[in-house]
Amino acid sequence: MLHKKAKRTTGNESKQLLNPVYSRIPLDRPIPRNEMPEEEMLPQTAYQIVSDELILDGNARQNLATFVTNWMEPEARQLMADTFDKNMIDKDEYPQTAELERRCVNILANLWHAKDEKETIGCSTIGSSEACMLAGMALKWKWRERQRAAGKSIERPNLVMGINIQICWEKFCRYWDVEPRLVPMEPGRYHLTAEEAVKLCDENTIGVVAIMGSTMDGSYEPIEAISQALDRLQSERGLDIPLHVDAASGGLVAPFIQPDIVWDFRLPRVKSINTSGHKYGLVYPGVGWVVWHNHSDLPQELIFSVNYLGGQTPTFALNFSRPGSQIVAQYYNFVRLGKEGYRRIQQACQDTARYLSGEIARLGPFQLLSDGSDLPVFAFTLKEKTNFTVFDLSQRLRDRGWIVPAYTYPKNLEDLAVMRIVVKDGFSQDMANLLLNDLKRHLNYYAAHPESKHDGGTPGFSHGASHEEKSVNKGK
Ligand SMILES: *Cc1c(COP(=O)(O)O)cnc(C)c1O
Repeated sequence: MLHKKAKRTTGNESKQLLNPVYSRIPLDRPIPRNEMPEEEMLPQTAYQIVSDELILDGNARQNLATFVTNWMEPEARQLMADTFDKNMIDKDEYPQTAELERRCVNILANLWHAKDEKETIGCSTIGSSEACMLAGMALKWKWRERQRAAGKSIERPNLVMGINIQICWEKFCRYWDVEPRLVPMEPGRYHLTAEEAVKLCDENTIGVVAIMGSTMDGSYEPIEAISQALDRLQSERGLDIPLHVDAASGGLVAPFIQPDIVWDFRLPRVKSINTSGHKYGLVYPGVGWVVWHNHSDLPQELIFSVNYLGGQTPTFALNFSRPGSQIVAQYYNFVRLGKEGYRRIQQACQDTARYLSGEIARLGPFQLLSDGSDLPVFAFTLKEKTNFTVFDLSQRLRDRGWIVPAYTYPKNLEDLAVMRIVVKDGFSQDMANLLLNDLKRHLNYYAAHPESKHDGGTPGFSHGASHEEKSVNKGK
């Protein structure tokens, strides 16, 4: 047993300190994995053990699957390290962190064209998932108020959205007992449209969720058209259905590089918006935001007041304690970059995304589903049957550390298998060229080995992807 042997040999602690790290106990034997060791070890030794094990992880900077920030400035890292020890929920003890959170909400409300920031209400969350839960609850509670006032049933609420929604909305529906009404995809239509959304609405619809930046391909849903269609629905059938915009990514892209797209509080039907501070808000995980245009859009009964932190603290959240550092880092980015800095960064990402998608289209076997002109994100598939699949290619790209996910689309396009690249701050055009060279190398390999049996059996558009093939390195 490890601890017995350790006992026998750790007679001289100072000698342990002197030993070169890899000849120290317990690095000279297996480390217990699922039980705590009986005794302490030196911090430097423990550091080595844990950091060595993490070598096996993918390299975050080469992770083109995730939407989440993987590079920040040294000053931001410093600020975050300085504030790890502050619990953001202790608003009475850390009033300045609370003040920065409040300012961030107002900055977002202004960015999203709220009429009057004093009328808006919002909060930080651990990410867009929690923000969507809160926004969904507000929709459900408001719907119940409306139904009760009209003497109608509150038995069967539903939520209308495209099948391309992020998984958090399916979670919301299951956890809060709401029927998800998902508009399927069709060839050439990869997200929600106004016409399809309205078809699924009825008096039990708590709201419509539209996405600024589909996770599947980075495309923006036509929010203004959806809003107008819902206006018509109201004038024709009396159904007043609120719109929530899931702007997890687009909420901090569109205001800077596509200011003319009308998708936010300029549309009175948009009651609430969420975004992920840790996506194009450029903060390390986990921070998200949700903002309601008017106090009246957030039912009072969902807000709790706690007094045991000193003072009276209103709280609307699923969890309680959370580091203050992400909020501090968000505020740092807002003041450090300003609108011009954000514009420059998102434009650089978009330029790289469009350059890379263009080059990939030129390679021959690929067809783009999107080109990075909405979010700096694009998806592509194989044009025709080849001797490799997107799943094979995704695996092969791992040979130099590139993480590019491959996955199949949802209903009614289950036969469509794609790869997707998310361009983020820190992925330069130079790195894009390194990736392109690797892509070319793999294509040359497949061309030189036409007989090579790939592991799967599914090119971009064919039938029967096996279970494991449904998603490789998908990330989110
Ligand atoms: C990433 C994403 C989410 C979930 O966001 P987290 O911040 O990871 O919780 C929700 N919706 C969309 C559209 C997303 O892209």
